[in-house]
Amino acid sequence: MTAQQGGELSVEVKELRGHPGAQETFARTVPVPTEFSTVLIGLPEGEDLELDLRLESVHEGVLVTGTAAARAAGQCARCLDELSYPLTVDVMQLFTYPERAEPGADEEDERFVSEDLAIELEPMLRDLMVSALPFQPVCREDCPGLCSQCGFRLEDDPQHAHEQIDPRWAALAGLAEDLEGSEDEDGPRG
Ligand SMILES: [Zn+2]
Ligand SMILES: [Zn+2]
Repeated sequence: MTAQQGGELSVEVKELRGHPGAQETFARTVPVPTEFSTVLIGLPEGEDLELDLRLESVHEGVLVTGTAAARAAGQCARCLDELSYPLTVDVMQLFTYPERAEPGADEEDERFVSEDLAIELEPMLRDLMVSALPFQPVCREDCPGLCSQCGFRLEDDPQHAHEQIDPRWAALAGLAEDLEGSEDEDGPRG
């Protein structure tokens, strides 16, 4: 099996053609291509993408099964801390021979073997891995996040809270604090 000009993730399948049941393995580590990411989290470009795939010749085309693994890195949606974890997805995708494509069929999830008998793994892997990323990544399930009023990291002090003061009384409360402050400055009371 040789890689074509399309990059390491373009795989020639000429030898599988016409031999239903024939198999090849595609086990290698390649750099993560660009844009395997969402807003808050993604697979850092250029890091290791470990592919352990089996390409199997079936009647309609080439069935690709196996796993793809890489490191996901991003930001916690609650506290904005950096987070990172290993991501592994299962792959199970049929690449249909072009002449077997049914005209008018919904082609959204369908993938094809190209005219020159190659399959493009990159778009498939991007779809699979990006959709496996959490929409709202969290550093841990019970991350308390940040105070909505002042941005304080609630994990550093779970007791952190703001007194809820009616805005009409806020000015008076401020005045009272000023008075207490000046009393202290005047020395001991009583
Ligand atoms: Zn967090
Ligand atoms: Zn606060």
